[in-house]
Amino acid sequence: MSHQLILREVFGYDHYRGPQQAIVDHVVQGGDALVLMPTGGGKSLCYQIPAIARRQSGHGVTIVISPLIALMHDQVGALHEAGVSAAYLNSTLTGDEAYQVEQRLVRGDVTLLYAAPERITTPRFLAQLDALFARGQLSLFAIDEAHCVSQWGHDFRPEYRALTVLHERYPGIPRVALTATADDLTRADILERLQLQDARAFVSSFDRPNIRYTIVEKRDATAQLLRFIEREHEGDAGVVYCQSRRKVDDIAQTLVDAGILALPYHAGLDSAVRQTNQDRFLREEGIVMVATIAFGMGIDKPDVRFVAHLDMPKNIEGYYQETGRAGRDGLPADAWMCYGLQDVVNQRRMIDESPAGEAFKQALRGKLDALLGLAEATDCRRVRLLAYFGEASKPCGNCDNCLHPPAVWDGTDAARKLLSTIYRIGQGSGMAFGAGHLMDVVRGKATEKVTQYGHQTLSTFGLGSDFSEVQLRGVLRQLIAMGAVAVDAQAFNTLVLTPASRAVLRGEVAVRLRESASSATDKKTKRNVRLGTVVKAPIELDSNGLLRYSALKAWRAEVARQHNLPAYVIFHDATLAAIAHSAPRSLGDLQGISGIGAKKMEAYAQEVLRVVGSH
Ligand code: ADP
Ligand code: ZN
Repeated sequence: MSHQLILREVFGYDHYRGPQQAIVDHVVQGGDALVLMPTGGGKSLCYQIPAIARRQSGHGVTIVISPLIALMHDQVGALHEAGVSAAYLNSTLTGDEAYQVEQRLVRGDVTLLYAAPERITTPRFLAQLDALFARGQLSLFAIDEAHCVSQWGHDFRPEYRALTVLHERYPGIPRVALTATADDLTRADILERLQLQDARAFVSSFDRPNIRYTIVEKRDATAQLLRFIEREHEGDAGVVYCQSRRKVDDIAQTLVDAGILALPYHAGLDSAVRQTNQDRFLREEGIVMVATIAFGMGIDKPDVRFVAHLDMPKNIEGYYQETGRAGRDGLPADAWMCYGLQDVVNQRRMIDESPAGEAFKQALRGKLDALLGLAEATDCRRVRLLAYFGEASKPCGNCDNCLHPPAVWDGTDAARKLLSTIYRIGQGSGMAFGAGHLMDVVRGKATEKVTQYGHQTLSTFGLGSDFSEVQLRGVLRQLIAMGAVAVDAQAFNTLVLTPASRAVLRGEVAVRLRESASSATDKKTKRNVRLGTVVKAPIELDSNGLLRYSALKAWRAEVARQHNLPAYVIFHDATLAAIAHSAPRSLGDLQGISGIGAKKMEAYAQEVLRVVGSH
C-alpha cells in the first residue's frame, strides 16, 4: 500500500498535516530524521505509517522507544482498533506476558513494538534485536520524547544515553527521533547524543492556532476559575494547574462542591490514587484534573478543552508545554491563566532563595521576565510566545488581546508616587512594610499602622488618592516585573528600591499598563455553550444532530468500557460530530468521514448506522 493509502485506509484521514507527508516519505525510504513538532502536531503518524509501509515491503518490526510506560497500553490499544498489530514491553507486564510478546516478535507478527528505554539495553532484549537484525527483520527505530536524552531538556532520563547502542550495533537501520521541545541547545544535544548529525531535521511551526490564550488579572482566583469553567467549559475535560499540593486539594474540593467533576493529582497522593485519577481522566469524559506540574507528561488525551493556570509557571517553556496539552485534536481550546502581584513576588523569591549560583539565577530571572512580559503584554500573546521560540508571526486574532484590545493607560505618574513613597517609608525605619501598607499611604488612608509609624505626615501621603487600589497594584506589579522594585524575602517581603528605580523616578522610562477592566472576562463572547444544555458538539448541530451526537457518545462510552480503552481511541469527538451532522443511512454515506479507517468501518459501521437510525 502506498503511504497515502495507509493514511486513508488505516487511519481514515484524507490529508497529511503540515510536514507529516515529507517526513513519512523520507522515513519510508529509510532516511534518518529528527522531527520537531508541537504537542498535538501529529508526531505518531510520522513513524506509525512508515512502520506499516515498511513491514508490508518485508522490512520487519519497528521499535518505538518511549518513556511513557503508563500510556503504552492505550497507544497499542489504539493501533489495534485501527487494525495494526502492535505490542509493548515494559515493567507492567508479567514475565509470562512479556514472554508472549517476545514469541510474537520472533514469529514476525508485530508491526510496532513499544518499549521502555531501560528495556532496550538489557542483554536479553538486545539478543532478540540481534536475531531480528541478522534476519533483516529490524525495520526502524522511533525514539519518542527524544529530548529525554538531553540534560537541557526538562525531563532528562539517563537511560536514554544508552540509546547510542542502536546506531552502533545496528548500522543502516533508520532512526527517527521525535520531540516537542524546541530550543537550540536541546536540539543540538539530541543530534550529538543520538549521533543523528546526518539525519534530516523537520522543524514545524510551534503555533497551536486552535488554542486561545487568555491571561487575566487575579482578584478572587477561585471565583474567577469557577466562572470561567461554568461559562465556557461546562462538561468539558480540562486541567487546572496549581503550585502546591495543598492548593490542588483545596481547589479540587471547591470544584466538586460546585458540581464540577474534578479530581486531584500531585506527588503527595498515594500512587494507586494517582493512577486511578489519571485513568479516569483519560477514560471518562468531562473530568477536570486539578494538578501540580507532576501531571501531564505524555498525556495524549486529544479532547482536553482547557488548561487553566491558577499560579504562574516559572517560564515560558513550562507555560507553553502545559498549555499545549489543550486541544490536541485541533478543535477550539482555551489556555487561561490568572495572574497577580503575589505570583511575581513568589517566583522572584523562589529564585532568590534557591541555592543555585548567581549566573544560573540570572538565567532563571531572565526566563521569568519573559513570562512576566507576556502576562503584562497589551499586544498579541501569540506573537510574543512564538517570538520567544524564534518564530516571527502576525497578530493572531485568537487571544484575549487580539479579541478585546485592552485600553492602555500611562502609569508613569503613579509609578513615581509609589517609588518615592517606598523610599520614604523605608528610610531609617528598619521596619518591614509590604504592599498593603504602601497602598494605604499612597492613597491617604490613615490606618492604625499608618499612624503608628507617623506615615500620614510623609509628603507623599495621599498623593495617589485619585488612583484605585487595583490600579496601584497593577503599577506595583509592573514595577516588580520590570525590576524597578524588589521584594526582600529575608525581611518579610519588604519592598525596596533597586538601581532600576531611578530611571522611572526621573521619568526616563514610561510605565504603560493595561486598563484593569474588571469586566474584560465578562464581556468575552461565549462559544457554543448554552448553560443548562449538557451536550456540546465541536461543530454546529441542530437539535436532531445533537440528539444523534449524544446517542453516539453514549454508544462509544459503552464500547470503550468493553475494550478497556479511552473513548477517543474508538472515535474522536470530531468524527462522532461529523457522523451526527451527516446522519448517514448507508455504508456509502459513512465513507469519507474523517477518522473512520477500514478496520473501524468493518467493526463499527453497522452499530453506528443503527444508533443514528434510531434517532
Ligand atoms: P503529538 O504526538 O505530536 O502530540 P499525536 O500524534 O498524538 O500528536 O496526534 C494528535 C492528534 O491528531 C491525534 O489524535 C491524531 O489522531 C490526530 N492526527 C494526527 N495526524 C492527523 C491527520 N493527518 N489528520 C487528522 N488527524 C490527525
Ligand atoms: Zn493574538
